[in-house]
Amino acid sequence: MNSEVYDVIVVGGGPAGSIAAEDLAKQGLSVMLLDRAGRIKPCGGAVPPQMLRDFDVPREVLEAEVTSARMVSPSNNAVDMPIEIGFVGMVDRGHFDEWLRERAATAGAVRQDGTFMSLGNSDGRSRELIYTPGKKGCTTEPVSVRARYIIGADGAKTKVGRAAVPGAEKLQSVFAYHEIVEAPQHESSLNRSTDFNFALEADPLRCDVVYNGKLSPDFYSWIFPHGKTISVGTGTAVQGFGIREAVTALRKQSGLDTARTIRTEGAPIPMKPLKRWDDGCHVVLAGDAAGVVAPASGEGIFYAMTCGRIVAESVAEAIATDNPACIKKARKRFMKKHGKVFWVLGIMQKFWYHSDKRRERFVTMCADADVQKLTWESYLNKKLVGRDPMAHVRVFIKDVGHLLGIGSETGKPDSKPTQL
Ligand SMILES: Cc1cc2nc3c(=O)[nH]c(=O)nc-3n(C[C@H](O)[C@H](O)[C@H](O)COP(=O)(O)OP(=O)(O)OC[C@H]3O[C@@H](n4cnc5c(N)ncnc54)[C@H](O)[C@@H]3O)c2cc1C
Repeated sequence: MNSEVYDVIVVGGGPAGSIAAEDLAKQGLSVMLLDRAGRIKPCGGAVPPQMLRDFDVPREVLEAEVTSARMVSPSNNAVDMPIEIGFVGMVDRGHFDEWLRERAATAGAVRQDGTFMSLGNSDGRSRELIYTPGKKGCTTEPVSVRARYIIGADGAKTKVGRAAVPGAEKLQSVFAYHEIVEAPQHESSLNRSTDFNFALEADPLRCDVVYNGKLSPDFYSWIFPHGKTISVGTGTAVQGFGIREAVTALRKQSGLDTARTIRTEGAPIPMKPLKRWDDGCHVVLAGDAAGVVAPASGEGIFYAMTCGRIVAESVAEAIATDNPACIKKARKRFMKKHGKVFWVLGIMQKFWYHSDKRRERFVTMCADADVQKLTWESYLNKKLVGRDPMAHVRVFIKDVGHLLGIGSETGKPDSKPTQL
């Protein structure tokens, strides 16, 4: 048993935990970054350029830069949304997360491979944490360490949250599953035998987002290029839905059924921030553990990093002022910045992903210039959303009007969808 006391132990070296550990170590605090190494996070890997700017991530870390998105409706209408003001970055989570963890270590955080097991007693100043060292699956003797603060950045199934934060077990999520396949080197290696081949002009610079109740009854499916590989996946909160069968169907429909499968994997994506992120004295949650993924899009990497930074600020403040109550500020600060956008996106998800009729309409409206502008400005730069979260509501109202047949001239699509 070890009696070392850290200022902070961060459990989980994903985007949220790595940023929190790096920021705290840069301030001269003693930080341990504990991560259960050995498993690559299942993820589509799409990130906005604002993430690169906010967190000093060079473009070389990206596997690909995508310059358009193709939205595909239940009846196979396709609307292309070119990105005129930037690009969507694609990261490989195996490389990206390791790069972030190494950067945290360079800033002074002590990296430890190991699995968080449980929390022990508090002596008022610090709390005990027990973990098993080594890579995931290793059988080693548990080790005890102490820290004044513990950040649970251990993902949607957060064991830290369940051990310390009331309500953490109630995290609402969709389950997402994807298959990583080898990108066809030549168009001829795509299977042309099916009649619904929207990836036939397989474009390494385009994301395909598919809205179809057969492939996902309440979320969406995707085909995201990652340079030499492609992520083909889908998500749903519907228990018992055949998620693997849906991805098999999507691969067949997109001509990727004969591409070599490299990995198959799944994980929950939280859909609503938890009501409470902390235990009031030693423990605070960040990233997926706190539930901060944008509804409707499932965008979690940028928000996890932003949340990790905000949580680190609150913990640093708690240490500087010797006031544990400061850790409560993390949730307030995050929600003040992003809460309205999450709320609006949650309503949009419930409305547009409700039936194939609405999905059809949703894809059609993606041809609208206002919708494209709002989508790309808010996704790529996160600027519009900060300045004017109600812009989403205005477009939403306009589009509902459209759906109900009371749309004005301005609600008309600017380009016609293509029948595939
Ligand atoms: C299939 C899928 C596709 C997605 N696609 C996208 C996308 O394209 N773009 C996007 O922005 N978001 C996407 N997301 C969401 C995104 O992956 C998450 O929101 C993001 O990874 C959250 O980061 P995090 O650091 O909070 O948690 P995670 O990335 O889950 O990291 C948690 C870390 O904790 C570690 N850990 C867990 N338990 C323990 C333990 N007991 N002890 C020690 N360490 C532990 C894990 O090893 C991991 O490193 C997707 C998610 C899924 C499931």
